[in-house]
Order: sequence, then C-alpha cells, then structure tokens
Amino acid sequence: MYDLVIVGGGIAGLCAALAAPEGARIVVIDKGEARAGSSPLAQGGIAAAVGPEDSPDLHAADTIKAGAGICDEKTVRDICAEGPRAIAWLQELGCDFDRGADGDLDRAREGGQTVARSVHWRDATGQEIVRALRNAVQSRNVQRVSAAAALLMVADDRCLGVGTAEGLFEGHASLIATGGAGALWGRTTNAPGATADGIVLAMRAGAQVSDLEFMQFHPTALDDGSPSQRILLTEALRGEGATLHNEAGGRFVDELAPRHVVTRAILEQASVTLDCRQIPDLEERFPTVIAGARARGFDPVTTPLPVSPAAHYFVGGIASDAYGRTSIAELFAAGESAATGMHGANRMAGNSLLESVVVGRRVGQACGTADRGKEWFGYAPMSLGLASPESSPGTQRSAP
Ligand SMILES: Cc1cc2nc3c(=O)[nH]c(=O)nc-3n(C[C@H](O)[C@H](O)[C@H](O)COP(=O)(O)OP(=O)(O)OC[C@H]3O[C@@H](n4cnc5c(N)ncnc54)[C@H](O)[C@@H]3O)c2cc1C
Repeated sequence: MYDLVIVGGGIAGLCAALAAPEGARIVVIDKGEARAGSSPLAQGGIAAAVGPEDSPDLHAADTIKAGAGICDEKTVRDICAEGPRAIAWLQELGCDFDRGADGDLDRAREGGQTVARSVHWRDATGQEIVRALRNAVQSRNVQRVSAAAALLMVADDRCLGVGTAEGLFEGHASLIATGGAGALWGRTTNAPGATADGIVLAMRAGAQVSDLEFMQFHPTALDDGSPSQRILLTEALRGEGATLHNEAGGRFVDELAPRHVVTRAILEQASVTLDCRQIPDLEERFPTVIAGARARGFDPVTTPLPVSPAAHYFVGGIASDAYGRTSIAELFAAGESAATGMHGANRMAGNSLLESVVVGRRVGQACGTADRGKEWFGYAPMSLGLASPESSPGTQRSAP
C-alpha cells in the first residue's frame, strides 16, 4: 500500500513526489518519461511575480483578462500568490534560472503579461526544471515504474489506486498528472504521448470533468508543412522584439496580445512569417528554437520563419481545485490534466508551469505517512456545483 500513487512523471507529478513528507511511500508510474510529456518541451518560462514592478495582484489581473471572463478568480489569486514561493522552492531543489546584469532573476515578457514575468532558463525552461526535479527525486524514497495506467480503482466514490498491465498499485491517495491532449490534433506542439489518458481514466471512473471545449492553439509554430508535431517558436521571441508579417510584409497585430487574439489575426492572413533577426543575442538566448528550426531546414538568424497556429495546451480536464481535489475522494489531479479554473477560456503564458508546480506540490505536502494517510487525505470530495451529470460541465463552479 502506497501513501501516494502518482500517474505521470512530468513537472506536476515530480513536484508532488518531492513535496511529500520524508518516509511517505510514493510510486511514480509513467508510460514513457524520457520522450513523452510537455514538461521537457517548455520554452518561454514559468510565470511568477518576482520583479519589483510586478505583484501577485497584477499577475492575477492579467490572468483573468487573458481567461476571457471565465477564470475561477479565487483559484487564480491563490495560485498567483504562490508564484514567488514556487520559484524559491524550485531553486532549493536545484533549478537554475537565468539572471540579469543586476543579478536578479531575468524575466521574459510573453503574451498577455503587462510586465515581463516569465522566469526562464534560456528557451529551455522545462528541460532545466525536469532535470533538477529528476535529479532531486533520485535521493528520495520514490519508486519509479514504467507502465501505462489503464484504470482507476474506485469504490463508494473513493479512489483505491491505479491499475496497469504491470499490476495494481493501491494507495491512500492517487494523483493524475498525465498532461494534456495536444497529440489528438494533427498540427500540435505536443509530444505524441499527450493523448488525454488520465482525463479519460478519470471520466470512466465517474470523476467530473470541465472545460473540455477549450484547446489553446499557440499562434507561432514553425509551419514546415509537417502533418504532426511542430516546433514551437516561443512567445518570448516576440517579447524580445520578433515581429509578425503578412504576405504583403506588413505588421497586422500587437505581437504581445493574448494568444487567442494573435492566433485569430494570423488565421485571417494568407501566410505569415515571424522575423527574429532583430533580436541581438538570438543564438545565445534561444538555442532550442535555433536548433529546432535548423533541423527542419530554416535559419531564424538569416530568414523570417513561416508560422501558423498549432494545438498547444489543453485547458480542460479533470475538474479540481487549487489543492488538486477532485469529485472523487482520494483522487487528485494536477498539471495539464486538471482543470482548476485558473486559465478560464485561454491560458496566459507561463501559467501552466506555475499551476503544475503549485498544485503538484500541495498534493505532495498533504500526503501522510502510513499512519496518517487517511487523516491527511480525508477531504470531503469537492463540490463543483454541478447539479447532475446531465448538466453542462464547466458552467458553474463553487469552492469546495
Ligand atoms: C512545446 C511546448 C512549450 C511549452 N512552453 C511552456 C512555457 O514556456 N511555460 C508554461 O507555463 N507552459 C509551457 N507549456 C505547457 C507546459 O509545458 C505543460 O502544461 C506542463 O509541462 C504540463 O506538465 P504535466 O506534469 O501536467 O504533464 P506532462 O509534462 O505532459 O507529463 C505527463 C506525463 O504523464 C505520462 N503519462 C501520460 N499518460 C500516461 C498513462 N496512461 N500512464 C502513465 N503515464 C502517463 C507521460 O509519459 C508524461 O511523462 C509548453 C508546452 C509545450 C508542448
């Protein structure tokens, strides 16, 4: 019997494993960590109000505006307030972030942010965070299992564990942290493993889901004609001065407007290019983008890049709150597979890494040792204000 069975070894799952108290018995089940999942692909950064010109209130206001009026404001304020602590915790775990000339954490500005807010490591922020978390988890009492979760064991509205082809993993609590659904779309920035597995497992087990109609399309994926996974050209490029041009060569949109605004503007053009040549330290600051584009036959240093939108972030997911609680007792959700209401109809840049860290960490912190397991996880299932399974998911929310 485990204290916490975690499905998914991305940033949300690893943060839960690392935040659990010493002595807790933890297992992380992942179907293919080395190449799967979005966490290692994250480029632009993790949003947190760490700059002197910023504040959690401003972060929350930007998030709510980008979310087009349907964010859960309480959740937004709660998670934004945790931003600076989340960054400090990641640093304690060994994450390295870029610093400016003044020695402070450097911040990139991305779409929807009124001030630069994305703490980053070059343009490979996810890779750096995953490196540090995987390194830290090695020194903990965490079992790793390579398998695909195929079912959730639920009885009397309580989750008892997770089933895989390798066997059953019983736990006082179980966490779904299986990431998003982008690979269900042809043109996507996501890895092939992003197939909504955990969301489907939770639905089959009777958990409530929310906002499944919201898939966020990133405006600037490299349009290399590929029918499947496309190279992301991070918004931070536009934050550093890259510009969008239509077929006639003209500018047609505020490059740092929220993603849905830029995406729609691009779709109204016959073809669009992103000109990165004016960024002075392009090769040093964006090595991931440069390497990815060159591998596909394009060189951003010399030539504007063809771009088009691609499926990027699944806003919907397992209905849950800012502590990962779902409608089934002892079943938790965190990261992209969860729908906390933080993102409304449109996620603001940098907020998914923040949400993954904050909620994942909280699920781990709540995890008891063998003796305390039931006590720590004895939450009442959250009430989502959904009157019946027939009512439209995601239309009403209330605090648990
Ligand atoms: C190209 C790209 C760039 C991005 N850049 C940013 C950024 O700069 N800032 C930001 O905030 N967000 C960014 N995002 C989004 C962000 O990276 C993700 O939302 C976040 O990393 C999700 O973390 P996660 O732990 O929830 O899921 P993931 O990192 O996707 O991990 C899920 C894990 O679950 C495993 N899994 C899936 N199904 C099963 C199963 N059935 N059984 C067992 N294991 C399973 C997978 O193998 C995977 O390891 C980006 C996304 C992409 C694709």
